Amino acid sequence: MITTHTHDLLIIGGGMVGLALAIDSARQGLQVTVVEQALPEDETPVAGVYSPRVSAISRESQDWLTGLGVWQHLPAGRACAYREMKVWDGQGQGRIGFHADDIQADDLGHIIENRWLVSALWHQAEQTPGITLVAGRTVQQWQHQGDQMLATLSDASVVTASVLAACDGRFSKVRRDAGMATREWDYRQHAIVTTVRHQQPHRGVAHQVFLETGPLAFLPLQDEAGDQHASSIVWSVDNEAVQALLDLPKEEFLTALNRAFEHTLGELTDCDPRFSFPLQQMHSKRYIAPRLVLVGDAAHALHPLAGQGVNLGFQDAATLANEWRRGRQRGEDPGSERTLRRYQRQRQGHNLGAMVAMEGFKQLFGSDHPLAVLSRNWGMSQLNRLSLAKRPLIRTALGRINAD
Ligand SMILES: Cc1cc2nc3c(=O)[nH]c(=O)nc-3n(C[C@H](O)[C@H](O)[C@H](O)COP(=O)(O)OP(=O)(O)OC[C@H]3O[C@@H](n4cnc5c(N)ncnc54)[C@H](O)[C@@H]3O)c2cc1C
Repeated sequence: MITTHTHDLLIIGGGMVGLALAIDSARQGLQVTVVEQALPEDETPVAGVYSPRVSAISRESQDWLTGLGVWQHLPAGRACAYREMKVWDGQGQGRIGFHADDIQADDLGHIIENRWLVSALWHQAEQTPGITLVAGRTVQQWQHQGDQMLATLSDASVVTASVLAACDGRFSKVRRDAGMATREWDYRQHAIVTTVRHQQPHRGVAHQVFLETGPLAFLPLQDEAGDQHASSIVWSVDNEAVQALLDLPKEEFLTALNRAFEHTLGELTDCDPRFSFPLQQMHSKRYIAPRLVLVGDAAHALHPLAGQGVNLGFQDAATLANEWRRGRQRGEDPGSERTLRRYQRQRQGHNLGAMVAMEGFKQLFGSDHPLAVLSRNWGMSQLNRLSLAKRPLIRTALGRINAD
């Protein structure tokens, strides 16, 4: 039997950004349907066992997620606060350190496995009135019909809504079906991602070393027992080198990683299976079409060096939900062009700015020209001595680009 649901907002993609958008929008009074292709994972965390995909969540995102009632659902102890970030140039002497004390904060952010954040969001979405969650389905087709979007799901049910929000990630099918063009930067690199164990505790410090091949990040993890001997790594390597590193026997991979990381946390003793992701930046030339809006990675995907991808997505979601709140006060329909334009105006330039900054950073650190090596090492060392000058840099690095 074909069922039809009529709602204000249809969200395609129940990942981190789609679910957060659903919760904030429902709190503004919208009736929301979320369609997610995967089924929710109902697992409990196991001490010492980590999943490979993690995100650095800024304090700003944390505050917003707390306001939405999501942060409270994270498994106890599983979000690792980092109070310090140490960055150095593997090709020179340049070093810079950022400390939470520099900005009078308790910490610089938290490292969280994506899995637990998605599951906290899912639990909160289930408890939020006005949200219908449809898991294990995709959208077969959608079309714009008068002042409605009409979508047919893979179980043949039909959802009509005033506006469709594409939160279906970097390879967004909705964006492609809508023919929305993108600009792309391919770094011809992959990121190798895995969890490693080290002899010494990380003590809540995030590390990033710029190697000739690209950045290598060690992001501190913590389990519910408070153990601090595991970190998630993101190692950028050229496309030609990635397969060889993935295929190396574990011992040899750890030897190569130990060398690259300069034994900073003592010996690396073990690692989980390795995964790789292509490193590309992508930005959609438009975020909106009639009764359609792109949010999160569907609109922009950043180099993970920034550690900002999902934080920018959360800012998109908060801005859009706020525009819907303002629109309702004025009697505007959530799919109206005026409302969607206001969202696009606020977010597109901001996200592009973050991408351009990342591109500049990547170019500076990607160069092994002796002059570039000399100037960045000198610059890092000088800046490291100036705690006042470091503050805006820390705020930018933490995703608070507009903060003072
Ligand atoms: C190696 C790596 C490291 C990263 N590290 C960080 C970091 O430290 N900090 C940070 O902020 N960001 C980081 N990012 C980026 C971050 O992972 C993304 O910005 C974030 O996942 C985007 O969230 P999203 O919800 O927009 O998209 P996604 O996480 O891609 O979610 C999309 C959702 O849509 C669903 N979906 C897709 N197609 C359909 C369909 N047709 N129908 C129904 N459902 C569909 C998917 O199942 C998924 O649940 C990293 C990225 C990479 C690759």
